[in-house]
Amino acid sequence: MNSAYHRHVPHRSELGSSTSGQLHQFSSAVLVPVGSCEQHGPHLPLDTDTRIAAAVSSALAQRHPGYLVAPSVAYGASGEHESFPGTVSIGQDALHGVLVEFGRSACRWAPRVLLVNGHGGNVGALRSATRLLRYEGRDVAWSSCSVPGGDAHAGHTETSVLLYLSPSDVLMDRIRPGNSAPLAELMPRMRHGGVAAVSEVGVLGDPTTATAVDGARLFDGMVTACSERVTRWSPDADGMLR
Ligand SMILES: [Zn+2]
Repeated sequence: MNSAYHRHVPHRSELGSSTSGQLHQFSSAVLVPVGSCEQHGPHLPLDTDTRIAAAVSSALAQRHPGYLVAPSVAYGASGEHESFPGTVSIGQDALHGVLVEFGRSACRWAPRVLLVNGHGGNVGALRSATRLLRYEGRDVAWSSCSVPGGDAHAGHTETSVLLYLSPSDVLMDRIRPGNSAPLAELMPRMRHGGVAAVSEVGVLGDPTTATAVDGARLFDGMVTACSERVTRWSPDADGMLR
């Protein structure tokens, strides 16, 4: 017998690794990581947001027995990063459609769905999709992986978390500081020219200060904040967990 057949041990908290029959026994909710495929400076992988959302979802599933992690929605609304090669954006309308149909389909058997978001640009679609799904009577909500005081894009926060989660995929010798001005200040120029208009390297924040130790602390903060929101389960009018 080929030993390769035994290498992957299905984890009961993964939807994709479960059988349909197993779901009736233990599923109570589905966690859906929602990320992006977009440039993250010269040093971070394109799927940084998806990795973070998936890792937060897995940690949540460990803290909340019965929650299953679905395969990630790995493309999002990333129009502001499209001038950088590698970025693939499906836009707000398509993302809205994906999330609505995901919710309608999953809720045929799952009593509850939580969209775990790793990319700020997805928020408009998350709001409109969960608002509609909740109006239709489905218990769908969303939560972000952000931390208070974190920088916006490929800066200290995301680089530290990636140094903790996937250190071999961070190109340390390529790290350059980006634009650390507050997002609100950068928005008018970004609306016309995207991220490239305010940062040549596509970084909003300063990744040069990132460390794996701080990444562990920041990641734990993301998981703890999301976990507390899951326990409270108190969605606002747009389906965001408070
Ligand atoms: Zn990101």
